[in-house]
Amino acid sequence: PIRPRAELEQVESVCPYCGVGCALTYNVDRERGAISFAEGRDQPGSQGRLCVKGRYGWDYAASPQRLTVPLIRREKSYPKGALSADVRGEGNGKRRKDDRPGKDRGRKPGGLVDYDEVLPHFREATWDEALDLVARRLREIHTAGGPGAIAGFGSAKCSNEEAYLFQKLIRTGFGTNNVDHCTRLCHASSVAALFEGVGSGAVSTTYGDVANADVVIITGSNPTANHPVASSFFKQARRRGTKIIYIDPRASTVAEHADIFVQLKPGTDVAFYNGVMHEIVRLGLIDREFIANRTSNYDELARTLADYPPERAAQITGVDADTIREVARTWGEAGAAVVYWGMGISQHTTGTDNARCLIALCTITGNVGRPGTGLHPLRGQNNVQGASDAGLIPMFYPDYQGVDADATRERFERAWGTALDPKRGLTVTEIVKSVLEPGGVRGMYMLGENPFLSDPNTTKVRKALSALEFLVVQDIFLTETAEFADVILPASSYLEKDGTYTNTDRRVQRGRKVLDPPGQARADWVIVQDIARRIGLDWRYESPSEVFDEMVALMPSYANLRWDNLGPSGKLYPNADPEHSDGTVVMFDERFNTDDGLAHLVPAEWLPPKELPDAEYPLVLNTGRLLEHWHTGSMTRRSYALDAISPVAEVYLHPKDAAERGLAHGQRVRVRSRRGEIELLVRISHREQLGNCFIPFHFREAAANLLTIDEIDPYGKIPEFKFCAVQVEAL
Ligand code: SF4
Repeated sequence: PIRPRAELEQVESVCPYCGVGCALTYNVDRERGAISFAEGRDQPGSQGRLCVKGRYGWDYAASPQRLTVPLIRREKSYPKGALSADVRGEGNGKRRKDDRPGKDRGRKPGGLVDYDEVLPHFREATWDEALDLVARRLREIHTAGGPGAIAGFGSAKCSNEEAYLFQKLIRTGFGTNNVDHCTRLCHASSVAALFEGVGSGAVSTTYGDVANADVVIITGSNPTANHPVASSFFKQARRRGTKIIYIDPRASTVAEHADIFVQLKPGTDVAFYNGVMHEIVRLGLIDREFIANRTSNYDELARTLADYPPERAAQITGVDADTIREVARTWGEAGAAVVYWGMGISQHTTGTDNARCLIALCTITGNVGRPGTGLHPLRGQNNVQGASDAGLIPMFYPDYQGVDADATRERFERAWGTALDPKRGLTVTEIVKSVLEPGGVRGMYMLGENPFLSDPNTTKVRKALSALEFLVVQDIFLTETAEFADVILPASSYLEKDGTYTNTDRRVQRGRKVLDPPGQARADWVIVQDIARRIGLDWRYESPSEVFDEMVALMPSYANLRWDNLGPSGKLYPNADPEHSDGTVVMFDERFNTDDGLAHLVPAEWLPPKELPDAEYPLVLNTGRLLEHWHTGSMTRRSYALDAISPVAEVYLHPKDAAERGLAHGQRVRVRSRRGEIELLVRISHREQLGNCFIPFHFREAAANLLTIDEIDPYGKIPEFKFCAVQVEAL
């Protein structure tokens, strides 16, 4: 029975899904020990709004599939990874009768890991036994192979405190900077370009600031699916007069709200924005004063732009030259213009160049540092901003302080009381490669990541996971990656612990414990500390707030923030006076964060994607997310409502491409690339361009990353998830 609200306990927290970080309140029935419902809570960023994931997607935490005891692999039980060799699995997109939400949910939801098949290869262990084994094996590998033999993947779903402790453990416990997380798969290239251009990887303004813009460019993003509540602010701004220019290869629903929709060919962003900037320069719509006083290297940029008249840009992008001119005029004449971008910009081998163009577009028109202007990469996971801020990246300590700068390193050595590795560590993509090389990474600590489904070229990832001498996975479910583990440690969902999370706007918010963890599961920060102590580190943290205090003391950007002054709505950083102010919305009003205070303009030449379509693989594959699901589906596919709305994997295909192949809506097909093949259903979609298709990567039984290419951007080291060549054919 659902009790009236007055009989329920209200716990204020923050949504665990996307980077929008909506504030919500859980209404908890203490008698049942369960959440009854969630509702949006007032906060400047979300204003009480929630999307379907925030409102209904929390029940996964009560799944009977939760891991509740530590598990140790039985010796020589089966070759590691054998069960995942056929990642298409038995589901193959078909719904078995017992896969319906609510039916037999304890054992076999469609497409997820088959617990009955995998669990017999593990035995239950005590925490002491499991932790001792983890510490011993990682130490042995470290002793034999040196610091470079160890690596850690942290998680953007964990709190800031957990991200901070995890990177501190890898750095101080194993003497290596081989620590990274899924930022490498989402906005690493944006961060690389922003650092180089404006000296900060964070957004220069909030998504709510769109209300102050005359014009907004939304590009490489499907915000209605991926940042739903931010998308509602964009649509609301348009109603009030802001012009929306939507630029994307897919005609996602936001295209229906756009004043100008530009459906460019995938992988042609640099040519498009160079064409737009060429026209802005030609029309004299640049801000000469801003360029002179606030930027450097404009002349070199202008020389590059001279080679991209709209006619040439049109040839490359497939957008007609008049539309390029219209975009240039609309943007150039705006009093205030802002750009929001997603992974359609970043997930390319030219991702950094794509972002450089957006930085140049804003800065040469003076559109940074005032209300309604600026640069905003819409961050993906709920805490990818915070995890990056906290140092969960191989080249930076907390607050993006370089590991290779002597003075910085010495400061952290003093703070952490140990010598630190002066070399940059390996990124996620480089770690996977390194495992397959002699003298590479041999032992890994995986906290809440599922690279088996999330990383490109699954076959290679499988080989890497199988080749590891020792893998410890800390998670809440038996994920596809956990199948390869030697030890599995049962962790806590965000509902079962306290912590802070930083959203895409730079808003640091508190998530509060709602329920107790199931069985023997422990909070992630507790487990990290347990391992740290066993490898000889003298850690004595009593609470997340203690960790937050230590972290903030090392992070100038978070200065003045304290556990107890974040309030019910969180605070934006930087923040000079959190007791009285929500924090800084608009950054860079007087100077950029670069050493000389100027924005550095970096010209980019258009380069084609790495694998172009040909006769054998004639279609371009784009991968991404659906509104109802989240990343590798381990949470949302165990949520009753979300799984019911979106239960099967589909390939989205243009009607003509489908007709050419004799395919009907709902038909079962094979999609293959040079790296693998999957089987799933066809969805005829008017949102795709001719010659392009789209597959979400949430589904194990049709793992999109079996198809993707593992080529990476040279600066951000991000893979090209948005472009590879495939064929779709009837079975
Ligand atoms: Fe959660 Fe993002 Fe939806 Fe907000 S928009 S409720 S943060 S998934």
